[in-house]
Amino acid sequence: MKKKPIRTCCYCRKKMIKDELNRFVWADGEIQIDVGQKMQGRGAYCCVRKECTEGFLRQKKWGRIFRL
Ligand SMILES: [Zn+2]
Repeated sequence: MKKKPIRTCCYCRKKMIKDELNRFVWADGEIQIDVGQKMQGRGAYCCVRKECTEGFLRQKKWGRIFRL
């Protein structure tokens, strides 16, 4: 079996397999969800849980997360 890549949710800090996380990228001056997980640039992962996604999108530390 192929080993699944592990990523950390940048909101709750839990480690999980990439499939259980959404990837976000900073593009055109705003946060965008990377549906295909193939977009250019530094990505941030957040788990698909509603609390995490909402909390993640509500915070404003984009500079730190994406090293802007
Ligand atoms: Zn999370």
